[in-house]
Amino acid sequence: MGEVLDFGGLAILHGARKEVAKVEFTLRDIKDQRIQCCLYGKLAEIFDHQVKPNNGDICLIRNAKVGCFKGEMQVTNSFDSSLVLINPDITEAHALKRMFIGQGDNVDANQLHNINILTHQKRLKWSESPFKTIQEMKRTNQGELCRVICAVYVVDTSTGWYYCACVVCNNMVSKQAICFDEVYVPKWWCNFCQRFLSKVTPRYKLDLLVQDETGESRFSLQDSVSATMVKLGASRVVDVYSAEFEVEEMLPPEIVAIVGKNYGFGVSVDEINKASGVDKISAMKVWDINDIMWKYFKSLHQQESYSSKKHSTGPVCIEKDARDEPNDDKSG
Ligand SMILES: [Zn+2]
Repeated sequence: MGEVLDFGGLAILHGARKEVAKVEFTLRDIKDQRIQCCLYGKLAEIFDHQVKPNNGDICLIRNAKVGCFKGEMQVTNSFDSSLVLINPDITEAHALKRMFIGQGDNVDANQLHNINILTHQKRLKWSESPFKTIQEMKRTNQGELCRVICAVYVVDTSTGWYYCACVVCNNMVSKQAICFDEVYVPKWWCNFCQRFLSKVTPRYKLDLLVQDETGESRFSLQDSVSATMVKLGASRVVDVYSAEFEVEEMLPPEIVAIVGKNYGFGVSVDEINKASGVDKISAMKVWDINDIMWKYFKSLHQQESYSSKKHSTGPVCIEKDARDEPNDDKSG
């Protein structure tokens, strides 16, 4: 932890394989000892775009990495697992702030503001979300989480199964043909960064049509979830620089392999549209069938021991539930 000095703003590093954002600044501690800091990646962008620290702010870095750069000690973030706090509300930070204000820095101590940058996503506790059939899932409230065991029967490629993302901001980019020395070279335009890129990275966006014995639905999977399912990152499957998969309806064998298989999905019910029949459901987690069956039986066992302890009927297992209900939604 220390006071931010000479904060320099965002810079883009052009590495051999990709471009990385970074911010550099100096931190000084209460003994006026100074250390160079350099944040990389997404954290650097958030730091620059959203936090916009001023010199004189107190900065605390958790899970920092200490390394050596050009013979000097340097603090960096271990990518997105580090936590950076500006003006944290702790005694040490207040003491530090008071001390530097005492040295003539004209910062109003009352203006201390807390900004927490949390780059790691809140871990979802899937073990606490219920198992549901597709029919039951469609009756849950918007925004609820549940686990569904079902089979993938189609990968819908009508809107493509991958997109190209900016290596700096991760937003979707659009391909532009640029004539350079009378040769067309592929270039991409990032609307967020407002610049042309020659390096992009592919990301999956899979739309899966799924079914179980009670009904069917459509699950959308983001890149990281898709990659677990396909067992390969998108960049290993698509070569964005060649035109091999220019036709996005063409599926590589790695993705074809998931069709017909059963999986467990951790889903968030974003929107159930009874009128159009088009559901908006995000699968945020995927388990292979052995893994999910083990979790399923474990949860059944927990429910049984819970209900026997309470001497009441307690929660009933979902298979029984599904049989008890009229199966009017069934289609296909
Ligand atoms: Zn960008």
